[in-house]
Amino acid sequence: MALLQVENLRAYYKTEMYGVSRLVRAIDDVSLDLRPNEIYGVAGESSCGKTTLIKVLSGNIKPPLKVHGGSVKYRFKTAEVNMANVSDEELKGNVRWKEISYVMQGSMSVLNPVRRVIKTFEDIISTHEGIPNRKEFRERIKEHVKKLGLPPDVLNSYPHELSGGMRQRVAIALATVFYPSLIIADEPTTALDVVVQRGVLQLLKEIQGESKNTVLLVTHDMAVHANVADRVAIMYAGRLMEEAPSEIIFKRPEHPYTRHLISSLPVIGDKSIKNALEGSPPNLANPPEGCRFHPRCPLVMNICKTEVPEMRDLGGSHRAACHLLGGKS
Ligand code: SF4
Repeated sequence: MALLQVENLRAYYKTEMYGVSRLVRAIDDVSLDLRPNEIYGVAGESSCGKTTLIKVLSGNIKPPLKVHGGSVKYRFKTAEVNMANVSDEELKGNVRWKEISYVMQGSMSVLNPVRRVIKTFEDIISTHEGIPNRKEFRERIKEHVKKLGLPPDVLNSYPHELSGGMRQRVAIALATVFYPSLIIADEPTTALDVVVQRGVLQLLKEIQGESKNTVLLVTHDMAVHANVADRVAIMYAGRLMEEAPSEIIFKRPEHPYTRHLISSLPVIGDKSIKNALEGSPPNLANPPEGCRFHPRCPLVMNICKTEVPEMRDLGGSHRAACHLLGGKS
């Protein structure tokens, strides 16, 4: 049974300029599900819709962003939540942090720079369950960070006294304090060097393995997905292009865009020059007809310019949207 079911989601930004209003189709007809106990990766280059997807899935839908169609439904252990009609009170009181938490790029956005780390824990926890006994509370948090392999004295530090990697580990400790059903990790290792990145990913993977919750890992870095994701979805220009278990995506990608992403990954000993894709992602206020990838696709056919390719089930939890896969040409 899925933890989250997204069906035909359409989320657009409305922009006004010089009296002309336009819709930026950031997410257009996306369907996917997240299962309990998995790390689900979402990949794609800038402006593919990853950030908008996170906003909608976390209920952070504020103008100019608006949902124009489709549904986003969660089945948590204790309740079912439909993002289309959930109230702000419900989101604040019972969903955020308790059922859905976040690890963002750059932990400073969650840690208060002028308060010791323990105070940030207090601030977040007190909004959900109160802190009747401060001594017991501090012991509980100390145990939690120790369990994650962090030295307990990080709690008495100010964020600027910690390294970037340590701050990101603290952000993971914060995100897991209520053992939520879903952790959304948004480019969690982008600002870190490779060695620190490895440690942070390892921690995320260990926590997921232990608590058997779901992690939605959003990053443009395919190497990160290769390391930790169980399934990977590839997005381009607001649409889902391909989705499959990681080993299939990396060994047998079917969509031309996925193949390009995988072939750009460095291979030890391979000194050949990688070919860049020509052109750039389309303007989503005026996206191309048909397949949105067609202006850049090396295998484009006539049909691609007029008809949107259907998402096809390729078997083995593998699906992709490309006319080449359906023999429709
Ligand atoms: Fe390329 Fe056509 Fe497939 Fe789109 S549908 S990826 S343009 S071959």
